[in-house]
Amino acid sequence: MRTIIEPFRIKVVEPIRMTTRDERLHLLREAGHNVFLLRSEDVLLDLLTDSGTSAMSAEQWAGMMRGDESYAGSPSYYRFEEAVREVFGFQYVIPTHQGRAAERILFQTLCSPGDMVPSNTHFDTTRANVEAVGARAVDLLVPEGLRPSDVHPFKGNMDVARLEALIQEEGVDRIPLVMLTMTNNSGGGQPVSMANVRAVAEVCRSHGIPLYVDACRFAENAYLIKLREEGFEDRSVREIALEIFSWADGCTMSAKKDGLANIGGFVATRDEELARQQRNLLILTEGFPTYGGLAGRDLEAIAIGLREVLEEDYLEYRLASVRYLGEAIAAGGVPIVQPPGGHAVYIDAAAFLPHVTPLELPGQTLVAELYLEGGIRGVEVGTVMFGRRDPETGQESAAPMELVRLALPRRVYTQSHVDYMVEAILAFAQRRERVGGFRFTYQAPVLRHFTARFEPLYSLA
Ligand SMILES: *Cc1c(COP(=O)(O)O)cnc(C)c1O
Repeated sequence: MRTIIEPFRIKVVEPIRMTTRDERLHLLREAGHNVFLLRSEDVLLDLLTDSGTSAMSAEQWAGMMRGDESYAGSPSYYRFEEAVREVFGFQYVIPTHQGRAAERILFQTLCSPGDMVPSNTHFDTTRANVEAVGARAVDLLVPEGLRPSDVHPFKGNMDVARLEALIQEEGVDRIPLVMLTMTNNSGGGQPVSMANVRAVAEVCRSHGIPLYVDACRFAENAYLIKLREEGFEDRSVREIALEIFSWADGCTMSAKKDGLANIGGFVATRDEELARQQRNLLILTEGFPTYGGLAGRDLEAIAIGLREVLEEDYLEYRLASVRYLGEAIAAGGVPIVQPPGGHAVYIDAAAFLPHVTPLELPGQTLVAELYLEGGIRGVEVGTVMFGRRDPETGQESAAPMELVRLALPRRVYTQSHVDYMVEAILAFAQRRERVGGFRFTYQAPVLRHFTARFEPLYSLA
């Protein structure tokens, strides 16, 4: 069959509250035109993030009931540990409440002030945790990863020559680990190839530097290797994932992504002594090593989710939805980061609204308009998120790219929801020349995108 269907049927439904354009205009004004400040009940299709928003399966809900809440030695922990060992191949597994806690524990045990941690691209919490221990986070993405319209199968790859050069310049002693983010969330959900994993691992091994994977979307990355990399067509996604991790010394994971769970994470390693130190830190802030800040029922949901996420019917449907959305709007003339990645479609708002200058916030304009048009909530990844205001002069500076991310929650929306998204985006495309920009009316000194308020420089009605 050519039609790819959702490989599940619906057992529990959650109604969506329909709204009119007039209602949305009012709600958006009340929220200072910042979609982070909307109530989620007022959103029809919520594409703000794929993190923690997955729909759990009947098996996971059954696991929730089986969850054992013993403080120490819960069978739920052992089922979780077994699942992580089976899927990732790491011996020592330390549960945490989410990915960033795993990152903090990893960097606090491996890094010292003045160190350097190279990655293809550090995710923002990863970068913040590297910097919090006084080390420097260095991004070594291949150049095609920074060019939105270039089509390349593995735009998440690390530039191996620059890694080798950095090690030569800085010296091995300054680089306590190398990281690979798979897929590369900040760079458009783009995958890393197996050839690149092997090449990076060989450089690391030749210098005795441990390699860690930020594994949040490992299953999507493994499936994209199967689809796009020669020699992997006939390998199972499970085998591909195991091979990825066989090249690494450990990983950090947010189970809110490819764990198909609503909360949780872990850090895993082959190094017994390191795991001992990490458990001591864990006890200080997260909890006893057999629960790490999670309930026993969460550990059950993750153990089941890590296996379900590798089912190829699921991954085929998942990647098909993202690709369908991306290709349909691109065919209608909307510029997107090519090719669509694993979990999201990124619209290039600077190219889509060329008459809106970066300081007039084209991404914010598009996000506000998509909410008005169809009740769709995306997120700006541009000047609002990464631009800066000089605290002395008040001078604003723009970010290098003006993107809008439409992240698809896992197993939540159906094909007709995606068709609706396409219709709304293309309807907006028809009238895009008539929109102006936005300006800040309030901004906090740090992480301003969460609480900022804006006003339009044109009539929204
Ligand atoms: C979400 C994410 C994290 C952090 O995980 P949290 O569970 O949100 O703390 C780290 N790295 C990447 C690539 C992510 O997408």
